[in-house]
Amino acid sequence: MSRHFAFVNIPAHGHVTPTLAVVAELVRRGHRVTYATTAEFAPAVEATGAEVLTVGSTLTSTHPGKEVTADDVAWLPLILLRESALLAPALLERFETDRPDVLAYDVTLYPLARMMGRRWDRPTLELFPTFAANQEYSVAKEAERIAGVAEEHPATAAFHAEFTEFLARNGFDGVTPEDITRGDTDEPRLVFLTREFQYAGETFDERFAFVGPCLAERGFQGGWTPPATGLPVVYVSLGTAHNLRPEFFRACVAAFAGRPVHVVMSIGDRVPAEALGELPPNVEVHARVPQLTVLRHASAFVCHAGMGSTMESLYFGTPLVAVPQMPEQDVVAGRIAELGLGRVLGRGEVTPESLRDAVEGVLADDALHARLRDESRRVREAGGTRAAADRLEARAEAAVRV
Ligand code: UDP
Repeated sequence: MSRHFAFVNIPAHGHVTPTLAVVAELVRRGHRVTYATTAEFAPAVEATGAEVLTVGSTLTSTHPGKEVTADDVAWLPLILLRESALLAPALLERFETDRPDVLAYDVTLYPLARMMGRRWDRPTLELFPTFAANQEYSVAKEAERIAGVAEEHPATAAFHAEFTEFLARNGFDGVTPEDITRGDTDEPRLVFLTREFQYAGETFDERFAFVGPCLAERGFQGGWTPPATGLPVVYVSLGTAHNLRPEFFRACVAAFAGRPVHVVMSIGDRVPAEALGELPPNVEVHARVPQLTVLRHASAFVCHAGMGSTMESLYFGTPLVAVPQMPEQDVVAGRIAELGLGRVLGRGEVTPESLRDAVEGVLADDALHARLRDESRRVREAGGTRAAADRLEARAEAAVRV
C-alpha cells in the first residue's frame, strides 16, 4: 500500500547524500516522499522523484578554513537546535493537513522531528550518516574529548534552556529536553555504516539497522573517464565541508608531480584551481567529481575520513590514506587505523613526502588489500538501500496496526 514518508535533513552533503538512494527506492516502490531541504539540495532530491519542500536554514554547508576549536564543538548542539527551531513553523504548516505516515529525520534534527512526531502522534525514524550513539558510545562525546571541551561548558546550560523554550513554544510545556533526547523506546534507527565499523557495535540492540552505504547512480553529477595513460588513479578529496585547505591541495600536487600515478582532486568550489599553481600533466583538478565513478577506478583515496566517503571507499575496497580535518573525522580516521583499512596522517604530519610515502605504502601493501577485500564484502552484504527501504516500510506498517 502506498504511504507518505517525510524526510527532514540539514543542508550538508554528508547528511543528504546517504538518503538519496533510499528515497529513490521508496518512490520506485510506489510511495510518496516529501523531503524538506534547501534550494541548494533541491535538484539532487528532485532527481529521486520526491517532492521537495524548500526551506531556509541557519547553517551553511561549508566551513571556514580554520581549525575546529573546543568552543565550536561545544556550541554545535545549540546551533543545530536553532535549525530545528527555524524549520518547525514551515514544516508544521506544510504537513498540518497532509500528515506523513512516517517522519524520517537526520540525527541532527531530533528535537524537531520528535516534537512533530508527538504532536501528530506519528511514528518517527532516525537516520545516522555517521556513528550511532547509545548508552555505551557517543561520537559527540568522543569529539568533545578530542577537541578538549570542558566538563562545565556554558553551552550545555544554554542548550537546555533553549530546548525547554522550543518545546514550550510548540505546545509541550510539561515535556523536558531529556524526555525528547531519550526518545521512544520502539523508534527504529537506520545507520549508514556496518556494525563492524561502528565503535562498540555489539552494544547496539535490534532497533539499530546497520545497513551500510546506500549508493545509487548520481546522474546529476555528470561523468568522469579514467586517464588514457593507464596509470593507477589516486583520488584526493577533503569532502564538501572542511575543505578550504589550499595548502593541503598544493602539498598533494608537490607529492605526486611526475610520479607514476594519475591524481584526481576534488577541491570544492572555494579554492580556485589557480591557487594550486601550474598543474603537472598527471594531476587533474575539479571543484567536484562524481565520486562513485572515480572511486570505482581508484587505487588509493586520500580522504578527510568523512563517514560517507569512507564507506564509499570501503564499498569499492579502495585503500584509504586518511587526513582528518576536524574532531569527528579524527574519530572515523581512528577506526580506519584500528581496523587496518588504511593509514592516517594527522594535521601536523601532512607534507608532500609523508603523503607520497603513505600512498606508495598502501598501493604496495598486499595484506591491506586482502583486508579490504573482506571489508568490501561486509559492506556490500550490510543490506544497503533495499534494507533501508524495508525498514521504513515496516515502520509505516507497524504504525498502521497500532
Ligand atoms: N562527494 C562527491 N563529489 C565530490 C566530493 C564529495 O560526490 O567531489 C560526495 C561523496 O561521495 C560523499 C559526500 O559528497 O557522499 C561527502 O560526504 P562525507 O561524509 O564524505 O564528507 P563531508 O563532505 O560531509 O565532510
